[in-house]
Amino acid sequence: MKILVVGNGAREHAIVHALASESAVGGAPHELHAAPGNPGMGSQATLHAVDALDGAAVAALATALSADLVVVGPEAPLVAGVADAVRAAEIPVFGPSAQAAQLEGSKAFAKEVMAAASVPTAMAHVCTTPGELAEALDAFGAPYVVKDDGLAAGKGVVVTTDRAAALAHGEAALAARGDEGVVVVEEYLDGPEVSLFCLCDGTTVVPMVPAQDFKRVSDADAGPNTGGMGAYTPLDWAPAGLVGEVVDRIAQPTVDEMARRGTPFSGVLYVGLALTSRGTRVVEFNARFGDPEIQAVLARLDTPLSGVMLAAARGELADLPPLHWSDEAVVNVVVASHGYPEGPRTGDPISGIEDAAALDDVHVLHAGTALTDDGTLVSAGGRVLSVVGRGADLAAARAASYAGVAKIALADSHHRTDIALKAERGEVAVP
Ligand code: AMP
Repeated sequence: MKILVVGNGAREHAIVHALASESAVGGAPHELHAAPGNPGMGSQATLHAVDALDGAAVAALATALSADLVVVGPEAPLVAGVADAVRAAEIPVFGPSAQAAQLEGSKAFAKEVMAAASVPTAMAHVCTTPGELAEALDAFGAPYVVKDDGLAAGKGVVVTTDRAAALAHGEAALAARGDEGVVVVEEYLDGPEVSLFCLCDGTTVVPMVPAQDFKRVSDADAGPNTGGMGAYTPLDWAPAGLVGEVVDRIAQPTVDEMARRGTPFSGVLYVGLALTSRGTRVVEFNARFGDPEIQAVLARLDTPLSGVMLAAARGELADLPPLHWSDEAVVNVVVASHGYPEGPRTGDPISGIEDAAALDDVHVLHAGTALTDDGTLVSAGGRVLSVVGRGADLAAARAASYAGVAKIALADSHHRTDIALKAERGEVAVP
């Protein structure tokens, strides 16, 4: 197949890596393309200097390539309608329409759909003025949860016991968007978080395997939220019936509600869950794979990814045989640049990737990297690399991933040292 992957992060590199590995196992290799891609994908895919947000340009590229499938990775192009532009060019596309992507693009919209579909989630107030904001904070009490309504790359949410900080975040979010400003204030959800990616084709839902990510920047969940500092799978501590429960009570009702509204959801519905003392609750929906979780999840997928994504794009998931997963554990550790998330420094040389990738059971995915004119690989974003380690259990996978991280040299970079550590020790529990 000729497959065009849109995006330039570690999620898209993970997709390219999975597609390239699949063709290495048997059959003819796929012809892989990326727009714009990143230097890490360069050895597996042809890179095209096309703006991922420009639907017309992406559709024109896909047409020129005679692509069999286009995969739109990140949220911003989805919300901007890139999948619609490709679909209009009659090329199968993995990724929701702009309207369906509002499940991620607007937290207020997601709450409305959840209410209509009776999906269990945190109680919430949608606020448009500082006065409403203050009232909502007091109605729920501490810990306070305040969310900017629009896309904020995982950084628009503040969870704090400090009322002044909660108010300041909400007021800033309202002010930044002027008259359009909307802030969601929510009930605090206790309990561990789980991400479950559900493949959708407008009607059918096929769940992947659960993963857990680590949102806070520092060990022991200290510091501000980030896009995600690491992830692992499987979650041996999760309740046995979790996946079935999420499909039956959350994903399928949501997909049915979206279809009923005339905006069917296809692509991946990322269900972010909290397993609280009062039951399973949706923390958030996203309209694409989660980075860093998908880097771990795809490392366990034995079924060829191309066929799965094509079935979702064509509305044929009901005919898909069950997905096969390896029993291995996978741990993904993110290497971040100095100053991430507040003010990431870029332009620092990176070395050691080949040494890390030469280790058994390790592969390295690029997130924020770039090549200088003289061919030096440098940091180009906050999250720079994903180091993925596999093993018979979490201890082995952690050891592999951290052995890989130790090979990477990037001045003043930082990473968490406790990804999957509590799970390895059996210390994660549902309250
Ligand atoms: P979101 O962008 O909605 O996924 O929120 C980002 C992160 O903030 C989540 O992964 C949680 O760690 C945290 N968070 C969001 N909503 C809540 C909530 N209602 N209670 C506790 N933590 C939350």
